[in-house]
Amino acid sequence: MTVRLRAHHLLCMLTYVGRGYSPAFTQNYDGIASRIASGEEILIVHGPDDICSPLLAEKAPHCLRDNVANRDRDAATALQRLLARPIAPGIRLSPDSSLVERMRAAFAKGRTRRACLGCEWSVLCSSVAGRRFADTALLVQESIIR
Ligand code: SF4
Repeated sequence: MTVRLRAHHLLCMLTYVGRGYSPAFTQNYDGIASRIASGEEILIVHGPDDICSPLLAEKAPHCLRDNVANRDRDAATALQRLLARPIAPGIRLSPDSSLVERMRAAFAKGRTRRACLGCEWSVLCSSVAGRRFADTALLVQESIIR
């Protein structure tokens, strides 16, 4: 199996602490975080992904908005620079602890956070990063920055 993620969710997965838009959203996200934590491969996709899926039945899901596509673009640009590899639809990533730690270190320093501008969860995500990613669902123990 492969977890399908849009580019900006490569950032969101780093700070996920079980909070979200609805119980169905967080229940689905919990399962995805657990699959990523167990090393399941990530496939980068264009537009709505496995995390968005419970929201797509809404009348006008925000996942389809242009500003969310811009978030993907900004995240892909920043992560491409950080990881020195293409981050685009069709690319596959193995979410091992070294990759997650690199992304978390850069996130905590603000190097990949242009994508977060205007996001309603930004204060929470900054706070999670400030607490060294304690209590996150993804690789809780291995990836805490020391
Ligand atoms: S601030 Fe928003 S876009 Fe950035 S990591 Fe958090 S939830 Fe994702």
